[in-house]
Amino acid sequence: MTTDLKGRIAVVTGASRGIGYFTALELAKAGAHVVACARTVGGLEELDDAIKAVGGSATLVPFDLTDMKAIDGLGGAIYERWGKLDIMVANAGVLGVISPIGHVEAKVFEKVMAVNVTATWRLIRSLDPLLTRSDQGRAILLSSSAAHKCAPFWGPYSASKAAVEALARTWAGESQRTPLRVVSVDPGGTRTAMRAQAFPGEDPATLPHPSEVAAAILPLCGPELTETGRLYVVREKKLKEYRLPE
Ligand code: NDP
Repeated sequence: MTTDLKGRIAVVTGASRGIGYFTALELAKAGAHVVACARTVGGLEELDDAIKAVGGSATLVPFDLTDMKAIDGLGGAIYERWGKLDIMVANAGVLGVISPIGHVEAKVFEKVMAVNVTATWRLIRSLDPLLTRSDQGRAILLSSSAAHKCAPFWGPYSASKAAVEALARTWAGESQRTPLRVVSVDPGGTRTAMRAQAFPGEDPATLPHPSEVAAAILPLCGPELTETGRLYVVREKKLKEYRLPE
């Protein structure tokens, strides 16, 4: 089944590279107008060219997710232009450092929390009123297996992704009487800059390309998604539900 997103408006954060870039491209190919967010203008412009090349359209919004007023402004600008939002992919994230938890510098911990958690909450706050105006609102929050593994040395990132999942499930519960569906996605190890930072010795060629993850995320952004509050994992190009322990 192909996901038809014609006429839909989609916000994708972290759209300048990696999973966000290819998810934005995939959504545009399916017909959505993509509001592409990140700091790196060059990456966003490259995405814009790629979207135009497939006959799609995008609005580029370069800003730093630690700028909470900019996140609020995004909601206002979308309201002014379209009056609603259909899809939010909260994908942007940072790894921080791999380090014993007691050795992590305060500014590093705070940055991971600001980008991965506080900005995600602020996006929810800014965009929820627009997503609930859509007859088919979809919110996808990017998580990680680190949220559950809590492996040694991954403290800030693991804590931040556990918080992202908690936000997703809370929001899903609060909005379940509306058409809005909220899910988290663990993309699995993917060939991106973040993965290379986490595992510098790994051969990237052994990892799935972010376009494969994007293709697996696409159906969650359309009518095919009926459940809310679920956590999905992408493994071997397939999307599977991950059952949280009771
Ligand atoms: P990348 O590092 O390749 O890309 C991260 C994106 O986030 C970039 O577009 C970057 O844009 C954006 N970003 C980072 N900081 C900020 C900021 N302060 N303000 C605005 N945008 C920001 O990461 P991936 O594509 O690998 O990861 C995407 C998501 O998937 C993340 O949430 C990650 O935690 C998750 N994930 C990834 C895995 C993997 O193996 N790759 C595994 C599990 C989860 P810019 O720098 O231009 O601002």
